[in-house]
Amino acid sequence: MEALARGLKNWADSRGGARAGRVVRFPRFKSRRRTAPSVRFTTGAIRVEPDRMHVVLPRLGRLKLHESARKLARRLDNGTARIMSATVRRGGGRWHVSFTVEVERAERAPARPRSVVGVDVGIKHLAVLSTGELVDNPRHLAAAHQRMRSLGRALSRKTGPDRRTGRRASKRWERAAARAGRAHARVAHLRRDGLHKLTTRLAREHATIVVEDLNVVGMLANRKLARCVADAGFAEIRRQLAYKTGWNGGRLLLADRWYPSSKTCSGCGTVKTKLALSEREYTCEACGLVIDRDRNASLNLAALAAEFDTVGSGPVAARGADQKTRVRGQVATKREPGTASAGQTGTVPPQGRTTNRVFAKAH
Ligand SMILES: [Zn+2]
Repeated sequence: MEALARGLKNWADSRGGARAGRVVRFPRFKSRRRTAPSVRFTTGAIRVEPDRMHVVLPRLGRLKLHESARKLARRLDNGTARIMSATVRRGGGRWHVSFTVEVERAERAPARPRSVVGVDVGIKHLAVLSTGELVDNPRHLAAAHQRMRSLGRALSRKTGPDRRTGRRASKRWERAAARAGRAHARVAHLRRDGLHKLTTRLAREHATIVVEDLNVVGMLANRKLARCVADAGFAEIRRQLAYKTGWNGGRLLLADRWYPSSKTCSGCGTVKTKLALSEREYTCEACGLVIDRDRNASLNLAALAAEFDTVGSGPVAARGADQKTRVRGQVATKREPGTASAGQTGTVPPQGRTTNRVFAKAH
């Protein structure tokens, strides 16, 4: 109801010229059959029970959780978090409850205050680090992906709904659609979990993280599914790194999108004019270096950090993922090369209050 009021107001303001940006159309009808059921509570009793396995929501009462809410409960208990709202939503065959929480964060410093890491996000591996580490995709992801595809094919063989003729879906189709939806959600969850684990670890450990800027043009141009998935993952990795480096007192540097991280030799700096995607090994004609393609790219990215510190610009820019993230100023914090010592990475301004979402699964 509240959302409808907001939609109507946006539409009216847009018509009257009071609203900036793109023209807002009349609100669409939200069908109960087609949209995921969800409800948001902003007032009333919202709390986590002392056993951490139940939450209490207005009207719905006491709900049993599938996953413990202990992390949220701990913060609520010691007064570093305040629940702003709770949303209950159906998705992937389960009910989820998510809380929008205002969190007071302690000031932190990365475990290795002088450490720089270049991160090359790939397809075969989730990421290749300049430290030489290959970060694999989450376990079971390939199998889950396979299952998702085969259930999708099974679904296409059954009688689905047809909006043109008004035909309703068959019972078999509905069951198959539910199965496919659950498999799809599992793939998404595995992938998200893998990305979070990677970005949390990187932000806790390293003071400076260098990644490539997002190539939006390239993303739109390519139609290969695997590449699209990798790009989507990359955008998410960058977004997570931007706010997590902010939380941990580190910084994120973005290489210019035209910087040839793959084509440059990490040994001597020679830039190749051509490097096919199929060439997994980088061979330098100038100095004879033979190195894994992604490893080479990650080393080049890491080397950019030194360049940034001496010149203050060049092919890298320090910034957050977007305006909404409040890490912008913190990520842009500059240090003089060689003068930073442990503890001085705390050039980060005191952490304010940030709002983030905590997820918990309910039965
Ligand atoms: Zn070379």
